[in-house]
Amino acid sequence: MYKTIKNNVMKKLKHITQVCLEIYEEHGQSAVFDYVNERDLPNVQYEYCKACDTESPAWMTQCLVCGQKTEPIEKEFDVDGEVTIDDFSDEEL
Ligand SMILES: [Zn+2]
Repeated sequence: MYKTIKNNVMKKLKHITQVCLEIYEEHGQSAVFDYVNERDLPNVQYEYCKACDTESPAWMTQCLVCGQKTEPIEKEFDVDGEVTIDDFSDEEL
């Protein structure tokens, strides 16, 4: 179907934080959890969010539910502290 192809091409690129914010606003916190759990998202992991008062999915320590800064769960820290920082500017999510 031409229409489907065109829609795919026209699909706007959005940052994961923006996508999750919109999901939260429309469907609530649990919908964001579902969205994250169903996908293998780069640099997204569960961290403790003070504002949510729970472990929330976070992108680069930014809570994907409320947008506040999260605190990494200490047991998941790498011992040597080295991290890979990727450029997400042209990534489709
Ligand atoms: Zn939060």
